[in-house]
Amino acid sequence: MTSVMWFRRDLRLHDNPALRHAVDDGAVLPLFVVDPALWGPAGPSRRAYLVASLRSLRDDVPVQVRHGDPREVVVAAARAVGATRVHVAADYGPYGARRDEEVEKALADAGIELVRTGSPYAVAPGRVRTGSGGPYQVFTPFSRAWREHGWRGPVAAPDRTGGVDWLALDDAEELPDAPLPDGLALPPAGEAAARARWEEFLERVADYDEQRDRPGVDGTSRLSHHLKYGELHPRTLLADLEPLIQRGSEGAQTFRQEIAWREFYADVLHRRPDTARDYYKAEFAHMEYDDPGPGFEAWCEGRTGFPVVDAGMRQLRATGWMHNRVRMIAASFLVKDLHVEWQHGARHFMRWLVDGDLASNQHGWQWTAGCGTDAAPYFRVFNPTAQGTRFDPAGEYVRRWVPELAAARKPHEPTAAERRAGGYPAPIVDHAAERTEALDRYHRLREQRAG
Ligand SMILES: Cc1cc2nc3c(=O)[nH]c(=O)nc-3n(C[C@H](O)[C@H](O)[C@H](O)COP(=O)(O)OP(=O)(O)OC[C@H]3O[C@@H](n4cnc5c(N)ncnc54)[C@H](O)[C@@H]3O)c2cc1C
Repeated sequence: MTSVMWFRRDLRLHDNPALRHAVDDGAVLPLFVVDPALWGPAGPSRRAYLVASLRSLRDDVPVQVRHGDPREVVVAAARAVGATRVHVAADYGPYGARRDEEVEKALADAGIELVRTGSPYAVAPGRVRTGSGGPYQVFTPFSRAWREHGWRGPVAAPDRTGGVDWLALDDAEELPDAPLPDGLALPPAGEAAARARWEEFLERVADYDEQRDRPGVDGTSRLSHHLKYGELHPRTLLADLEPLIQRGSEGAQTFRQEIAWREFYADVLHRRPDTARDYYKAEFAHMEYDDPGPGFEAWCEGRTGFPVVDAGMRQLRATGWMHNRVRMIAASFLVKDLHVEWQHGARHFMRWLVDGDLASNQHGWQWTAGCGTDAAPYFRVFNPTAQGTRFDPAGEYVRRWVPELAAARKPHEPTAAERRAGGYPAPIVDHAAERTEALDRYHRLREQRAG
């Protein structure tokens, strides 16, 4: 039997059940569709990274590229090679799920079956249910039930050297150009890079729970972009973590919880696709917000005068990544110090993040803004100076990304003279005053809703 393996966010050979399935069917057309509906909004970081990842996959699999609407392109490609099945890993995002249903119908009209095997998650969104069969609203019980649900073990990669009959398209196209803007350098892409990073990180996962909140040190896995494009599957990570957890490693346990956050947010977005744009807690739509103005521009460009915020925003633009602790500080600053709605910040993050993922990003923002799942109460306003001093005590993170403050004695609290000497701006707002303003707005919202 001939089939198509339609690659999307699963750019790997190992532990790829859909690919395994396709190869077991017989001859395989490995296909990637450049869908204009996704390519445009992806932003320069993810476009460039995706192309690099596909180039890397092509070292092992002769992936054929077509540009256009998958509803047409996938059917045409399957017909061209006489395939009777198209294999995919299921997509649970709002756009992907809808697209797949439509592709499925178009394929069915041509007598071809769409076969979904696996997903980008250890447990597919929608599977973890409460005792009464509903979805979980908060993380901790979800993560417990998620662990109890469990997941299958990794599947072997298809034999690269022998056997696989890869098919080609007569009208295959080139990968698109995806130039990187000046000043942006991305991490290496592809399955081999992902596996190397994971193996290196496993050596120090024991320290993860102590190091992961320190933006100045390399204490986290930096796997998010690899997970985003499926160069590595979370099941692989969970299988490697298990013996360490059994031996009592707290770092490995904490790391597993972070994977669970990724799965939780995918679950939440799956059941509430509206929350990609709208408030998870709808009442927050009625709060008073300010239009994004010069303050928003200063935030985007990393010149708010708050060192840790600016360091994060510059790290984002230079590397396509920002440390999690700093994502929270920067997001809180936009919403609670500048009173700008979370969606504006989320859009900026999605434009530049290599790991930009609708579920984790939108819900990371909503959590920080106090309008999302879980208990991040609105009145818990991050103080950027205190946060910076606490989590970057030696100031190495700020010195690295805000060189104007390299000589400051306390880089999180530079004096006016140190700011002037380095050419670094004064704070654009008074944090204490804006904190009060944010809380006043919140109280007005509550009174309005109560009355
Ligand atoms: C405002 C905001 C926006 C965010 N946007 C994204 C995004 O677009 N894409 C994205 O992958 N993550 C996002 N996160 C979550 C988190 O910041 C990143 O996953 C993490 O910084 C990636 O670095 P790492 O791989 O070194 O993480 P590690 O600390 O090594 O964590 C391991 C993995 O666990 C997952 N993870 C960790 N923390 C979280 C979390 N809070 N939510 C969901 N998954 C998590 C990621 O897949 C990560 O790669 C966001 C967080 C916030 C507060």
